[in-house]
Amino acid sequence: MIALAQSSPAPVATHCPYCALQCGMVVHGKSSFPAISPNEFFSVNKGALCIKGWTAAEVLNHPERLLRPLARNAAGRLSLVSWEEAYARIVSALRTTQSKYGKDAVGLLSGGSLTNEKAYLMGKFARVALGTRNIDYNGRFCMSSAAAASIKAFGVDRGLPFPLEDIPYAEIVLLVGSNPAETMPPLMQFFEQQRRNGGRLIVVDPRQSETAAKALLHLKVTPGTDAALANGLLHLLIRDEAIDHAYIEARTEGFAKVKAEVATYWPERVERITGVPEEQLTRVAKLLASAQTAMIISGRGSEQQAQGVNNTLAWINLALARGLVGRPYSGFGTLTGQGNGQGGREHGQKADQLPGYRKIDDPAARRHVAAVWGIAEEELPGPGKSAYELMQALGGEIKALLSFAFNFAVSAPDANAVKERVDKLDFFCVSDFFLSETAKLADVVLPAAQWAEEEGTMTNLEGRVIRRRRALAPMGEARSDATILCELAQRLGRGQYFKYANTEAIFNELALATAGGVADYSGITYDKIDELQGVHWPCPAADHPGTPHLFRGSFPTPSGKARFHAVRHLTPAEEPDAEYPYFLTTGRTLAHYQSGTQTRRVEKLQEMAPEAYAEMHPHLAKRHGLHEGDTVTLATRRGTAAFRVKLSSGIREDTIFTPFHWGGTNSANALTNAALDPVSRMPEFKVCAVRIDPTFVVPPLGGSRI
Ligand code: SF4
Repeated sequence: MIALAQSSPAPVATHCPYCALQCGMVVHGKSSFPAISPNEFFSVNKGALCIKGWTAAEVLNHPERLLRPLARNAAGRLSLVSWEEAYARIVSALRTTQSKYGKDAVGLLSGGSLTNEKAYLMGKFARVALGTRNIDYNGRFCMSSAAAASIKAFGVDRGLPFPLEDIPYAEIVLLVGSNPAETMPPLMQFFEQQRRNGGRLIVVDPRQSETAAKALLHLKVTPGTDAALANGLLHLLIRDEAIDHAYIEARTEGFAKVKAEVATYWPERVERITGVPEEQLTRVAKLLASAQTAMIISGRGSEQQAQGVNNTLAWINLALARGLVGRPYSGFGTLTGQGNGQGGREHGQKADQLPGYRKIDDPAARRHVAAVWGIAEEELPGPGKSAYELMQALGGEIKALLSFAFNFAVSAPDANAVKERVDKLDFFCVSDFFLSETAKLADVVLPAAQWAEEEGTMTNLEGRVIRRRRALAPMGEARSDATILCELAQRLGRGQYFKYANTEAIFNELALATAGGVADYSGITYDKIDELQGVHWPCPAADHPGTPHLFRGSFPTPSGKARFHAVRHLTPAEEPDAEYPYFLTTGRTLAHYQSGTQTRRVEKLQEMAPEAYAEMHPHLAKRHGLHEGDTVTLATRRGTAAFRVKLSSGIREDTIFTPFHWGGTNSANALTNAALDPVSRMPEFKVCAVRIDPTFVVPPLGGSRI
């Protein structure tokens, strides 16, 4: 084990490196093996951590950690080089590419786990240092449908428009396509408190997840039918005169079209489409009708579909018709997944976006941001390609690619096809902590500093801006991505736009750039975050306390009203047929986070979940002669992968579930369908057609960390 370069003498309060709950934790850095304890005083986790958080220190001091830059040598192998050599290779490749093919031939992909400061610099670096329009980030695979639907309906996208501490006071929580008992366990304490208060939890999921097992009611929906289910529930509320006419009249627009659309979603039809029995539909409608306070909270299950935006809008329609949004202890929200999935989608690393959640094709937004950056408005490129479309262009329009904290060789849909396209690039550079599956494909690999080694801010799933604090110096020669971007900009001749005394100076410029935007951080400072235990945006002035609750008086739409959208149920891009007779759906497990770059290297987590599995109903397994623990090969029109069989009588008999944290022969994303939502460009991770392949020779299971 390599000793830490330096340790801090005092415990440092910071936040977990993983999911969007951003649990408060304390790093005790007196030894070369820093210890972690929960922060009892942070109201989001209230002293709880999940196993990922407890073991997060292990990745800091891991023997496989990248400590020096690597570059591919004449023999085609990655070998150690100095930072200057690495930078020289990158700058030369970028210059050659842009002089031959134009500025947009360089692409940049980044991650939703990066701090706000880094996310902001990614967008600025792409537009100002590289002059390319082609930048996007991995939140495109996570929150883009929820974000697009929220903007359409409410005029703003903040995952939860209320603090988590409101949840215990909701009489009903309808949780759609989310499994926080495994993905963010400390969140469950709010649902447990809700139950103790007499509240009820209803879960919509094709399988009985850990969360569904704790619910009063579990609606085992057919994958890809969420919009029909939501429309069916609204149909019943209208039929039973249980909608809030006064709210609809005063605070919304567009209800008449929705009412007409859902008129044909009578319960028998909805049962046929969704598989949810009419008796359950009626019961849920009655529970919603009688509740004074209720929340509808959506997750990736409903959103990661080619109809993800429409699905989310259908659930929003239900919340609006009951008059929930903007009411105390009520509302509609979405659970953000990645650590900075919220802030990461606000500051300009999206293809069509400038800081403050501004649109890059909005002339006023361009003027404002160009002025903050000190460049001419005309220098700002226009909108670029979304993440998957950018990947489709690798080797075509995109000849060189920079990727920061995005292990897309594991997390992209139809991952094998994406890896083949990477091979066609003239140049590929990756910045990461470890030699991930994606980094292994690169020409240059840069060692990035990790969470406990850096300062910055994160924005959690409640829209609360919090401080990430440095407890330790970076290991070896690792550098922060913010430093890397500024140093590269310098070498590209654009260093004058990237001069910052420290991370706080980057944040202060970010705050200026967001002033007047939807996600307005202009009244937030590091000191204010410290003083208030985080500040919820929007916070548009120095004396503004932040906004824990949105929509209390009005919505940030031109009329001040929320907007209904009529939604029709459409089938998924791929449905089971004679050749591929089952649904495949994917998700996460307790032990691992996203593509597993970090968690697959933590011994305890690896012991808990060493390999991917295929969860299926015992009846389905029996039909194929399979037993618990057998190895099974699954095949789709994209590829094949091998999994350990896990039996569960809680999953639908026509559906197989597999977690997506692994690559290689264990890769769920070798199977998934890259059909995109027409609005959000979100791939359809949650539904495709699969078969159990008896003819395929089963390769050895992955089971390895890398
Ligand atoms: Fe909390 Fe999420 Fe970290 Fe677990 S992974 S400790 S739930 S922030």
